[in-house]
Amino acid sequence: MRLIPQPKSIELYSETTKLREITDFEITSEIKNDESYELIITSDKITARASGEKGLHYARVSLKQILKLYDEIPCLKIKDEPRFPHRGFMIDCARHMFSLDELKKMISTAADFKFNKFHWHLSDDQGFRIELESLPELTEKGSVRHCDNFRNCKSEKEYHGFYTKDQIREIVEFCRYRFIDVIPEFDMPGHQSALLHVFPQYTCKGTAVEVKTKEGIFKDIICAGNLEAHACIEKILDELCELFPYDTVHIGGDEVPKNNWKSCGKCRKIMLDNGLKDENELQCWFINKMADYLKNKDKKCIVWNDCLKGKGLSQELTIQHWMGKPQKSAKTANNGQKIIMSPFMPFYVDYPYDMHPLRAVYSLEPENLRGLNKTGKRNIKGVESPIWTEFINNNSRLEYMCFPRWFAVAETGWTVKENKNYKEFLSVCRKLSDIYKKNGLNVAPEEDWNPRISERLYKTLSFFLPKRK
Ligand SMILES: [Zn+2]
Repeated sequence: MRLIPQPKSIELYSETTKLREITDFEITSEIKNDESYELIITSDKITARASGEKGLHYARVSLKQILKLYDEIPCLKIKDEPRFPHRGFMIDCARHMFSLDELKKMISTAADFKFNKFHWHLSDDQGFRIELESLPELTEKGSVRHCDNFRNCKSEKEYHGFYTKDQIREIVEFCRYRFIDVIPEFDMPGHQSALLHVFPQYTCKGTAVEVKTKEGIFKDIICAGNLEAHACIEKILDELCELFPYDTVHIGGDEVPKNNWKSCGKCRKIMLDNGLKDENELQCWFINKMADYLKNKDKKCIVWNDCLKGKGLSQELTIQHWMGKPQKSAKTANNGQKIIMSPFMPFYVDYPYDMHPLRAVYSLEPENLRGLNKTGKRNIKGVESPIWTEFINNNSRLEYMCFPRWFAVAETGWTVKENKNYKEFLSVCRKLSDIYKKNGLNVAPEEDWNPRISERLYKTLSFFLPKRK
């Protein structure tokens, strides 16, 4: 028998059962990991065993998939535990938003594959998408851009929108029921054009900033030396902490062009006062300060690995590795820092199947980070696959890009290396893709999963060229 993600062990028996749901729930201290479970199917009962609700939930998820795949349910014994504690998917709702129903469809599908972290990217250069009480003008003006000028998504219409607090609570509740933690991301000090449009005084030069209408990395960043800007961010973090009752917040830290910091009196002063050697160290100082603020609220932080460019980043931050020197991330993991693996190649599923085919996504081994030693391997907390939405403005495209590639990511996050097998995965992936397609999910058709090399180059190039009208 084969599931996605494949359980740690399955013993199959010759009998079958007509039962369709768990009849006996058993909480036991014999099972240590709170996500581990046993599922025992006999002809007259189906037993789930776990240390608590979480494990029982995963037993239910496995049974649900068995029911999808098999008309006759075989008697069996599954003993299962996850390989990694962090099995995440990220959706960018800053560049383009998705309705609550669209998000719930994504989340419930991810939950069927035992993902347990929804990283929700809610602010960026192209829009701020959270209702705030303390800074209503940020929600009102920061959530609007005057058109869409993205390479493959163009529109002259104004684009606007944000999630109300009640809507956010609804998503949090929807996730809680599926044992998925929601990790909100407030990306700083770069990717902040929406905030700086409303508060231009928080840039180094005080010049006007537009909410951006196209993709890219922009030089408008928050002045690291402006203490009023820090206070403003803290207000935002206060409200995020209230809305998201989890222990982790993502504070970004990626793609920060620091030229403006070089010539800014306030930034220079912080550097002098704190003995910081360069702007990269200034970024570490700034990120550490925000992380300290959150620590006082009992929150841990995740940051993108760009933060490792400077010296002095707090060891308590978890690093999300996506791009750049693997040796740097490996070295910090070897020294005890926790890492989440989100390598651009091939986990960024906003890029086409031609660039990141299903087979490549499946084959990524998170511990194969150059320079990682035994200690470093233990500090890999898990995997996460993001979908950025500069070029995705509808849920049909969103689903097409994520599925079935997220099925593959799910297996890498849950299943031990020795139990992974691409051919076997593929056979179940076909069946499940058909089933989800029939239920209305826009799973990519099989002919798109692993394009031939000859087609891949041409199609990859055409992805990067602007569409003709
Ligand atoms: Zn400055």
